[in-house]
Amino acid sequence: MSRYPLAALRAACPCAECRSGGTRVERSIPEDPLLLPVLPARSHELEHIEQVGNYALQMIWKDGHRFGIYPWEYLWTLCPCEEHRAGLAS
Ligand SMILES: [Zn+2]
Ligand SMILES: [Zn+2]
Repeated sequence: MSRYPLAALRAACPCAECRSGGTRVERSIPEDPLLLPVLPARSHELEHIEQVGNYALQMIWKDGHRFGIYPWEYLWTLCPCEEHRAGLAS
C-alpha cells in the first residue's frame, strides 16, 4: 500500500467545505514542509478510514472533519509513486 503524507491528504480534501475555502488549505503541497499551510491542531491526524462502496475512502480526521470522500482515482493522483500516477495516464 502506498504511503501518503497525511497533511497532503488533508490539504487535498475534496469536500465542498474545504474546496470552498471554509478550511483554507492549498491543494498543492510545497517542497518545503515549513511552507505547509497552517492547519488546525490535529487536523492532519487520521482517526479512522472508512471504505465507501468499492470506489472511495472516507477520511475521518481527529479534528472531527469527516466530509472528505476520496475516490481511488483521486487518491492515485496524489500518490507519490510513479506507478499509480502512470496508471492514470491511460
Ligand atoms: Zn474537507
Ligand atoms: Zn502509489
